[in-house]
Amino acid sequence: MQLVRVVVATHLRRTFDYLIPDDQELPAIGARLEVPFGQRRLIAIAIEHPQHSDIAADKLRPIGQRLDPCPLLPAPIHKLLLWSAQYYHYSLGDVYLQALPTLLRQGQPAQKVPKKYWQITEQGKTRLRQLARTSKAPRQKQVLEQLQQVALFPHEQWSSLEITPAVLNTMQSQHWIEPVTQMPKSHPWQWRDLAQQPHQLNSQQAVAVAAITHRSAPFTPFLLEGVTGSGKTEVYLQVLEPLLKSGKQALILVPEIGLTPQTIDRFRRRFELPLAVLHSGMNDRQRLDAWLQAKNGEVAIVIGTRSALFTPLQNPGIIIIDEEHDSSFKQQDTFRYHARDVALMRAKLEQIPIVMGTATPALESLHNALSGRYHYLQLSQRAGNAQPAHHQLLDIKNQPLRAGLSPQLLQAMQQTLKNGQQVMLFLNRRGYAPALLCHECGEVVECPRCERFYTVHQQPAHLACHHCGSQRPIPQQCQHCGSTQLVTTGLGTEQLEQELKQLFSDYAIARIDRDSTRRKGALETMLKAINANEYQILIGTQMLAKGHHFPNVTLVAIIDIDHALFSSDFRAAERLAQLFIQVAGRAGRAGLKGTVMLQTHHPEHELLQDLINNGYTHFAQFALRERQQTELPPFSYQALIRFETSHSEKIQQFSEQLEAFERSLSDHQCWIFPVTESALPKRAGKLRMQQLLQAHQRVRLHQLLHHLAHWLENTPCAQRVRWSIDVDPIDML
Ligand code: ADP
Ligand code: ZN
Ligand code: ZN
Repeated sequence: MQLVRVVVATHLRRTFDYLIPDDQELPAIGARLEVPFGQRRLIAIAIEHPQHSDIAADKLRPIGQRLDPCPLLPAPIHKLLLWSAQYYHYSLGDVYLQALPTLLRQGQPAQKVPKKYWQITEQGKTRLRQLARTSKAPRQKQVLEQLQQVALFPHEQWSSLEITPAVLNTMQSQHWIEPVTQMPKSHPWQWRDLAQQPHQLNSQQAVAVAAITHRSAPFTPFLLEGVTGSGKTEVYLQVLEPLLKSGKQALILVPEIGLTPQTIDRFRRRFELPLAVLHSGMNDRQRLDAWLQAKNGEVAIVIGTRSALFTPLQNPGIIIIDEEHDSSFKQQDTFRYHARDVALMRAKLEQIPIVMGTATPALESLHNALSGRYHYLQLSQRAGNAQPAHHQLLDIKNQPLRAGLSPQLLQAMQQTLKNGQQVMLFLNRRGYAPALLCHECGEVVECPRCERFYTVHQQPAHLACHHCGSQRPIPQQCQHCGSTQLVTTGLGTEQLEQELKQLFSDYAIARIDRDSTRRKGALETMLKAINANEYQILIGTQMLAKGHHFPNVTLVAIIDIDHALFSSDFRAAERLAQLFIQVAGRAGRAGLKGTVMLQTHHPEHELLQDLINNGYTHFAQFALRERQQTELPPFSYQALIRFETSHSEKIQQFSEQLEAFERSLSDHQCWIFPVTESALPKRAGKLRMQQLLQAHQRVRLHQLLHHLAHWLENTPCAQRVRWSIDVDPIDML
């Protein structure tokens, strides 16, 4: 009897056995199959060829259609997924299928399909000659010029040039252009000599490049800690050069694609090699195409956010994680993995180097670097002629504030603007105001599903719950007392923008937050306009803090950070310090000296003093000692069990049984904390509770989780709540 063992996308940590008729070959491990599953047919992955099954022979069903002639993923990635499922205590089926592009998960063939292109006709060429002499029909001219240059232009790329289907249709009806459908050409990428002369490295950069290039073992992890503007990107580029030259591919992970167009551009311009950018704006077909190009060795570089981590490469040479401290590398729902940590395992399985770069290492990474698990590289000076910024704490106690800004800050802004330089104000709260309250009775308008304040938005006017995303019109009357005196309280970016327009009416203001950049391409357009000096005052949330180059910004101010100084989250201090350094890094990058101002009611606060006077590395080492004394990560290991439901008895019953089960376990050598309400006890109408587990030894924690996962899957009361396991949680929400 021939058998195959498969996984399917379910959260059950189970495998299923199927029959292979005797006259047929066994499906390859890692190939997709269709299998009958109850009344349905599901996509499954073959993971084993067992000798026998626990299922009785007459109960076994034969597999359905085979979807792949060979494994979909290279062996190291297959192993990586096995490891991830074990480490994070998720089912292999869930992990495997999540790592695949949507179309493959749905059973589409792992192949390219014919694509639509456009080409210019003879009439079109005539038309172009006519248009060349006029300024009429600029869009048509743009299309014709594009097609003159590129013989076959892919249809889906018009939108990035802001050409609409309507323009194309008109032009087609005039027979100036015509569509062609054909198979996309595929050929391996080939090295070509650099068009652009690289920078002469300074000595710290040269040491870093040499250490990575001439490492003693194929798999070596590097922490590249470099102050903002110290030339980390230049180090990546020069490390890539010999690797690419030898035909190897690079995988580069960045926090958010939309936020890093300038960085991506540098890779493009330096190498002029085929490059795949994986981002959330792609449709499923584009994603699969990019995935296939990477796997088939048609692109030299893959750049993407955390989910790009699982992209197979034909000839992997290096993994680079830029801004490794960034919390967006941790997926916070469904499969809760940390892309940096999984990338490390991938590098090990592929036997390639991994470089984690940042100005502000996560304390976990710093600990690994200090203890010698990572090779520690430091760039302490700004590259080129940029000078370090001047830091200043502004005590705003008892100060008259206008638009949340102190007189001293307003004065510094005037001066900077008068000098023809740009000012950047940082406020991590989008919307107009964080709350709407009744002036007569004090009642605050809350989202009933989360029991948290609504944020007031004015553009357009509405209330939005930033926890569950629900929206409603702004009420005219207090629900509690009927008063019409509803007032906003607190300051958001929209309000700051409005007030500054009045205070600085001679200057143009750009606001960058999730609301103002929702439209596709909006952020890029704004970034370009900022660099062209079309705006003088920039307002933004932390979106603005990440990796951009604004050479003409010389004054950066953080308006409000006090809430972070007194947070109950043990990582709040680390986050604040990282944010401060990132924001400060935006100031004065091109020869102009920058100033960073931090408004606070607590200028004497130890953390702020340490950061301002001694810098991030000093602060981080101090913070690490504190974590060691309090036995917190990275000096211990944590996992969080979260569960939610809309019924309070169900959640109560579940917590009791969970705790009873845990009491029955002996000798686990873990701290099992009591079940508590989560920091957001209600979200979107669901009650939410959680339990923290902690251990000195990782293996102990994993043994405990293993038992727990088994119990959760097999206990009826656990089926009535939505539970999840979060290994190495970075957020206790
Ligand atoms: P980071 O990634 O650390 O923020 P970048 O690589 O963006 O730093 O470098 C900051 C600026 O300094 C960039 O404009 C870059 O072109 C320039 N730069 C980097 N290395 C050198 C060098 N060795 N000599 C001169 N300029 C450099
Ligand atoms: Zn009221
Ligand atoms: Zn809500």
